Amino acid sequence: MGDHGIEDEDIAEADLVTRRGTFRTVAFRDPVDRNEHLALVFGETAREEALVRVHSECVTGDIFAAMRCECGDQLDAALDAIVHEGSGVLVYLRGHEGRGIGLVAKVRTHMLQDDHGLDTVDSATVLGLPVDTRDFGAAARVLKYLGVRSVRLMSNNSDKIRALEGHGIRVAARVPLLVKANEHNIRYLTAKRDRLGHDLPHLGTPVPGHQGTAAAGHPGTPVAGHQGTAGG
Ligand SMILES: [Zn+2]
Repeated sequence: MGDHGIEDEDIAEADLVTRRGTFRTVAFRDPVDRNEHLALVFGETAREEALVRVHSECVTGDIFAAMRCECGDQLDAALDAIVHEGSGVLVYLRGHEGRGIGLVAKVRTHMLQDDHGLDTVDSATVLGLPVDTRDFGAAARVLKYLGVRSVRLMSNNSDKIRALEGHGIRVAARVPLLVKANEHNIRYLTAKRDRLGHDLPHLGTPVPGHQGTAAAGHPGTPVAGHQGTAGG
């Protein structure tokens, strides 16, 4: 065990041939949250400013391509960007369903969203559930295991930057990961922007009473360019 904290018996690596190319899979059991997570490594891992996505598990979006959230599109876009660059790491964190409330509770919030028009925040709080319980320590630990010291993080969420930096991974830049809004996810995306502080400039400026107006976006393509650390 190195300073990353993951025990040797809790980690296994193998090549994984995918439709996009061959990745190195690093499966590990985290010593703190005890979940089994996965890192997908493409190409030679850069120690500094590695292109990284830390992705929270979303069974409905990632596996079944649900359109009520943008998780599946972001997962695809992040993997495409890593392969396009020729190297990078995607950390897939389990136990993060519904920002940590679990799958049953998440689907219960969907009922409240559909039947009562609550947004992604209120539908959790009305059930007495926290809005976000995710911990990103496991991602930081596997990045340290891989020798990564600083990252260009594909994310729209400045909380994730603060979390990784709190666990000792420097975020050299944030790379926006914007996916096209549609009629099914626009309310979810708007709530993420307006209530959770995500940086989603492609949604346009909110107009009172016209929050369903989606602006153009590039489907499945992360917007290139460094925006510096953190911020809004
Ligand atoms: Zn999702």
